[in-house]
Amino acid sequence: MDHALARRSNSAVPPGSADRFVTGLGRAFKGRVIMPDTDDYHRARRVNNAAVDRHPALVVRPTDAEEVALVVAHAQERGLPLVVRAGGHSMAGHGTADGALVLDLSDMRGMEVDAVGRTAWADAGILAGEYTAATHALGLVTPFGDSGRVGVSGITLGGGVGWLVRKHGMTIDSLLAVEIVTADGRRRIASAVEEPDLFWAVRGAGANFGVVTRLQFRLHPLDDVLAGDILMPATRDVLRGLVPVLAAAPDELTAMPIIMLAPPNPNIPDELHGQPVVKLSVAWSGAPDAGERALAPLRALGAPISDTVAWQPYPALFSPVDRDAEPTWGVSSRALFVEDLDDATIEVIERRLTEADAPDAIVQLRVLGGAMARVPGDATAFGWRDRPALLWLITPYEDMGQAATNESWTAAFHTELAAGGAATYVNFMGAEDADVVRHAYPALTYARLRELKRRYDPDNVFRANHNIAPAVTMSARRSSDPMAPGSMAPE
Ligand SMILES: Cc1cc2nc3c(=O)[nH]c(=O)nc-3n(C[C@H](O)[C@H](O)[C@H](O)COP(=O)(O)OP(=O)(O)OC[C@H]3O[C@@H](n4cnc5c(N)ncnc54)[C@H](O)[C@@H]3O)c2cc1C
Repeated sequence: MDHALARRSNSAVPPGSADRFVTGLGRAFKGRVIMPDTDDYHRARRVNNAAVDRHPALVVRPTDAEEVALVVAHAQERGLPLVVRAGGHSMAGHGTADGALVLDLSDMRGMEVDAVGRTAWADAGILAGEYTAATHALGLVTPFGDSGRVGVSGITLGGGVGWLVRKHGMTIDSLLAVEIVTADGRRRIASAVEEPDLFWAVRGAGANFGVVTRLQFRLHPLDDVLAGDILMPATRDVLRGLVPVLAAAPDELTAMPIIMLAPPNPNIPDELHGQPVVKLSVAWSGAPDAGERALAPLRALGAPISDTVAWQPYPALFSPVDRDAEPTWGVSSRALFVEDLDDATIEVIERRLTEADAPDAIVQLRVLGGAMARVPGDATAFGWRDRPALLWLITPYEDMGQAATNESWTAAFHTELAAGGAATYVNFMGAEDADVVRHAYPALTYARLRELKRRYDPDNVFRANHNIAPAVTMSARRSSDPMAPGSMAPE
């Protein structure tokens, strides 16, 4: 989709649009405007996925919702394609595009925490690690993912599956309201009582519906967790046992097993180097005296090579946030929901990981259920709540010359596992086309999203994302106008 946006933007943007955009903003605009000749343009144009090397026309960093609304309106007036970026960690690199206006929310980082009422409002540019550090200081947290560096906005708008998913549900299950600027430039509040349709849509397909400027979350009490990594050889018995053992565990136990080839690490016996191992990353967020008992069936699955599980503060699960770090790793990514790790799936994973083509490739398993599965499937735009497990295929690389090879290798790996079109998860998708985006939603959900897209964004202004085409009206269907609603969608 990004490539499509870039192609359209290069041909369709009227010359001088960026300059006229800047002039049009006026002196009252307090945010930053970064043009190609500005010193920090090089860093500002880039996103976390280092393979995504694009040159936007300009990067604009507004300071509040009013300025966001101004940018959205002016970008449309000047014919500038709009890209919205929060934490810049989209696996597909949706936070930048050639010739586009990048609306970068990273200067909007305020928070208001109501510790007594156990709620928090967060500005859209804050990162999950920053948010968690602030609320955990008060003994409270909101569930995000396994990384502190992703934007609170991006992870929430796609759903949010993390360390507390079985105990407290997805991130969207703790979302109480959003403030959002829609394509018509209006600032709205969406919640269970105000604009409930829009609130339903943002919880799983949010990037398609506007620029979220603030998010209100529920907070849950949590201090320390029993967490760490248990490494063991990835034998058939271990792999077959992962889903049943983790599905039967108490909701307070979440694990993210990573299947990979053992690195040449001195703490791993030499004979295992290059052999398939499973790194069982675990977090127990329940009562102190029950944690070791809950972990016992996991440890009993195989013969642990190493075990770092220990009590630690919950924020220690996230690596430190460094906003200025230069992106160095490219990544190809695909995902699919699975019922189980059956022998056929295990055979494909073993064979693919031991191929020489992508030596750093890993497969992460998320066993779901618990609180996530107790929410009805049609309650939010994220709809795959009945799926027991999720596989995430991740191929990282430092040599950008390998980008195309790694992308096609990861895509082929996915195709082999997802034969027939398995359901997928937007937050883990790579640069995939509209046919795959359909699989991120159950059919009825997807149809409802297209109707809502037509209502809130008929011209598909917000299309630098895993894009949902606006439903096409009969009159537009008859029209040959290439700019008719729906015609800009990648379908
Ligand atoms: C290292 C790593 C670990 C991860 N772990 C997890 C995990 O455990 N669980 C999980 O669920 N996901 C995980 N993800 C996926 C991550 O949640 C998504 O990639 C998410 O979209 C990143 O959000 P961002 O704000 O950083 O990215 P961005 O690239 O800034 O944005 C992602 C998408 O959301 C849109 N968007 C962002 N902010 C807004 C806004 N305020 N309003 C409207 N649209 C917006 C963008 O236009 C873009 O399409 C991980 C990703 C990485 C790189």
